[in-house]
Amino acid sequence: MVPGVRLVVLGKQGAGKGTQCVRLSHHYVVPHISTGDMLRAAVKTGSAPGLKVRDAMENGELLGDDLIVEMVAERLAEPDAKARGFILDGCPRTTHQAEAVAGLLLPGALDLTVDIEVPTAQALRRLASRRVCTDCGSNYSVSTPPKVNWSCDVCGGEVIQRQDDTEDAIGRRLELYERQTAPLIKWYESRGQLAKVSGLGSPDAVLRRIIRAVEDRRGRGKAR
Ligand SMILES: [Zn+2]
Repeated sequence: MVPGVRLVVLGKQGAGKGTQCVRLSHHYVVPHISTGDMLRAAVKTGSAPGLKVRDAMENGELLGDDLIVEMVAERLAEPDAKARGFILDGCPRTTHQAEAVAGLLLPGALDLTVDIEVPTAQALRRLASRRVCTDCGSNYSVSTPPKVNWSCDVCGGEVIQRQDDTEDAIGRRLELYERQTAPLIKWYESRGQLAKVSGLGSPDAVLRRIIRAVEDRRGRGKAR
């Protein structure tokens, strides 16, 4: 079996980050820890914090560092993540969160932070054509719809354009992401923990690039 991995994955919406995280999680046999999924699960419960989360998400705002980090800390402490590692997706988003996440790990435990890069125009195009199952969250697009009449191939649920996938909202999210992430990328770069990987091309090609970046990093670690 391949060794596990401890990986942070960055990338603007539309960069294919979610897809790559799922594939990486299968490749390395580690949990895909997605703060987006965790927050959506919280919203579904309809609890008071869940409703707060929903409002913030609908307005394209980001949630407080403390809430996010607390959620991630709990998940990282579970046995699967402790034993083999994780693919961390959606956190950190700020240098403050990055410092908090680093504090949760042993020194040197993080293998790498991968930034999946695509031009903004391309990300906008991908996002505007995105469609999603309202029941199970499976992703489709205008060019790859479900087989039958916008009913989910996986669960039969209704496949729609998400409310927060309007062009205005997408533009706002991408702009906010760039602004917030620039210092974060510098933060990882200055620690020698960042690899930039092109998100263009097929999902298979992008996955191979990421795996190569991880193996390169490990190779260098051994050579020291
Ligand atoms: Zn579905």
